[in-house]
Amino acid sequence: MRRCPTCGCELGPLESRLGCITCQVRKRVAYRNLIYPSLSLADRAVAALEQSDISLASWDIRRLVDRGREDPTHPASLTSLLGKDRRFCWAGRGMYGLYRHGLLPGARDLHDVGLFYLFASDRPLDTEELCFVIRNAGYRFTDASLMVALVRYRAPLDRDQRGRWFIDKTEPKCRDFMANLIELKAGETFDAVLGRTAEQVRAGLAEMNRRLGPAVREGSRAQSVVALGKRVLDEQGVEDDRRKSREPKAFAWPLPPSCDYFEGDTGRARRVRRRAISIVEGRPVEPYVAVIECRDRYLEACVKSYRQVVYGA
Ligand SMILES: [Zn+2]
Repeated sequence: MRRCPTCGCELGPLESRLGCITCQVRKRVAYRNLIYPSLSLADRAVAALEQSDISLASWDIRRLVDRGREDPTHPASLTSLLGKDRRFCWAGRGMYGLYRHGLLPGARDLHDVGLFYLFASDRPLDTEELCFVIRNAGYRFTDASLMVALVRYRAPLDRDQRGRWFIDKTEPKCRDFMANLIELKAGETFDAVLGRTAEQVRAGLAEMNRRLGPAVREGSRAQSVVALGKRVLDEQGVEDDRRKSREPKAFAWPLPPSCDYFEGDTGRARRVRRRAISIVEGRPVEPYVAVIECRDRYLEACVKSYRQVVYGA
């Protein structure tokens, strides 16, 4: 799998080979001498996720991409974008992240995710085990929805005598079917994703056994795994709340300098901010005709703080 040449993060199959959007800009210096990559709404959402260490709910992504802007993004247009642009990986209902967050590229619901993790496992799994493994990998869902999702469509899926799920790998089309689930061709990239997923299954089962402890008897094991799964779900909720409270408060533009230029016309500060947004997002801007020192200094300050919003430190 390709990695970002700057920070070394794993890149999803559809992310730019030049690396993270945020890294591409951090390498460059003052705004007058550089060309920012031109950013669409989707790029800004990718940049927001790059700065997060976990997947985010779509309303949270919208909040991040809207900071500092006068024109709020329509929730529906962001939602459809997150579903369509394959750089975003589905992470649960209304939740998205990037490949680097440990998510499958191309998978779009719990059906795809559940089957692929079963395929990557080298042994059959109980529903509870599969639940824990997928949740441990960063997905959000309720226990009941996984069962429903697994059997929703036709798949090379089966259960053994103990009721554990497995994928029939002897089925000749099985590999193509799985590649299709994550919208890849069976090839090198597919093998890399499969390898990472197999590793997540092993890590998930090891973590499950560690947390269950040695004392659990075979009979009560299934219930213990279910209880453990619920605990993980609760922990994910707590982690979300903690992250939100840690988030810096809504972004505020720097105040314009007190001078005749800005005090004479309150619309001027807004126009400078809009220009700063355009510069940071790499859209072409007409150069100013006259040199007005306080305005140019303010533009520079605005570019700097907006750059921080989009690209991080
Ligand atoms: Zn990077």
